[in-house]
Amino acid sequence: MNVSQDTVVTFHYTVRDEEGVELDSSRGREPLSYLHGANNIIPGLESALEGRGEGESLTVTIPPEEAYGEYLDALVEAVPRAAFGDHEVEVGMRFEAQTNRGPISVVVTNVEGDLVTVDGNHPLAGKSLTFEVTIEKVRPATAEELAHGHAHGEGGHDH
Ligand code: ZN
Repeated sequence: MNVSQDTVVTFHYTVRDEEGVELDSSRGREPLSYLHGANNIIPGLESALEGRGEGESLTVTIPPEEAYGEYLDALVEAVPRAAFGDHEVEVGMRFEAQTNRGPISVVVTNVEGDLVTVDGNHPLAGKSLTFEVTIEKVRPATAEELAHGHAHGEGGHDH
């Protein structure tokens, strides 16, 4: 069976950045399962897998706009140290920030005097990502999976 709308795809992947540095890999652990056509994975990878079959391997480079989006300077903000109350604030710490678009995860990128710089971009924003994928299994989605909008079972959700 080939990957198409409403199939559940189980695959192994390794993802690298532009410099070839491995960012993440499923190899050596459970493969990932997702519901195809339901925006469960980044758009560029979903379209690269369309029509592929079980056992197929592919390598695809996905530009930022088809992955985790462009890096947006607007998501970088300097906030007063006082906004963190009694919290210890160090570069690299992550916080949930309330914004007018809902809560987002931000990382502290600089602390200087009374000003703390936070960055709300996804850690992979602005990056082209190269995926090496091996498709382990393709099967039709169950009615329950379609209702939930995600895959269940091996490598998928457990509810
Ligand atoms: Zn579910």
